[in-house]
Amino acid sequence: MKGKLVMGIALACCLALCGCGGGGGGEEPHEHNYDKTTVIAPAKGVQGCVEHSCSCGDSYRDGYLGALGVEMPTNKSYSFLFLGNSFTFVNELWTQFKNVARGEGYTNVAVDQVTKATSPLDVFLDTSTIYGQAVAEKLATKSYDFVFMQDKCLAPALDWHSFYNSAVALKKLVTESDAHPVLYMTWAYREDCPELAANNLEYEEHFQRMAAIYEAFGEKLSIPVSPAGAAFYIVHGEHPEIELYSPDKYHPSMAGTYLAALCHYATIFGKSPIGVTYMPSAVTAEQAKILQQAAHDAVYGESLVKDEYRNEYKEISQQTNS
Ligand SMILES: [Zn+2]
Repeated sequence: MKGKLVMGIALACCLALCGCGGGGGGEEPHEHNYDKTTVIAPAKGVQGCVEHSCSCGDSYRDGYLGALGVEMPTNKSYSFLFLGNSFTFVNELWTQFKNVARGEGYTNVAVDQVTKATSPLDVFLDTSTIYGQAVAEKLATKSYDFVFMQDKCLAPALDWHSFYNSAVALKKLVTESDAHPVLYMTWAYREDCPELAANNLEYEEHFQRMAAIYEAFGEKLSIPVSPAGAAFYIVHGEHPEIELYSPDKYHPSMAGTYLAALCHYATIFGKSPIGVTYMPSAVTAEQAKILQQAAHDAVYGESLVKDEYRNEYKEISQQTNS
């Protein structure tokens, strides 16, 4: 539908151009035939999309990457609300995200947050708490474009029901306020984190369940997912020398928060995080390069979820009513 609309606009423009007849270039007016299709890959400052061109040189673009599937020009203003717990507020993920976006020319980005330590998503729906009240009031009085939603880090892997029900209810609230929800996939605890064993989980299984749940429910509910957890998995596996975790082995280091911010940037704007200008002072240029590549691969590459987990949660999400 989006494509048709864009094509309609493009055709209308072309007819107007052809109709004025003052081209003077000796070219015969003709009906455009946009039969050449070029995939434009996301790059620094370039939003991924598909370009359709006519032999006369006229063209239009659609199929934009990014959370909305539309062009995200830098001269527009964008407003974000972050809902989550310490995986969001440690190192102020919203500030890192804003810095990354600003460095790429998005100078009108506003960020806001409601966060509560150790909390799952459902607290933001509970208006008997100050957190639920804050969310209700903010959504009613401010106009956000996007709302990031992050569930308690172990919770989805242990019990998906609460996550699913909260995501459904929050999506309703967020879309009623004319904003768009985005799921923020967190990461597996480091393999030597005692919390894992305490919950009968291992690193690999924690990652697989978490990623599979976010992907399955994101697809089911048509909510874009920022796969920070997948980017963590890539970097921790290939570059364990980059410490993504804080000393408690589950919260993010500054490198970890930056990695999540890069994923958010690529997910929202459809532009590659490779080569972004901003990097926090705690991250070296060499590390930033690795983190940016991993964020790119996590957002635009193949899913890292194994079939057994994908099938398990696909089945669950198909049986669940939304
Ligand atoms: Zn043409």
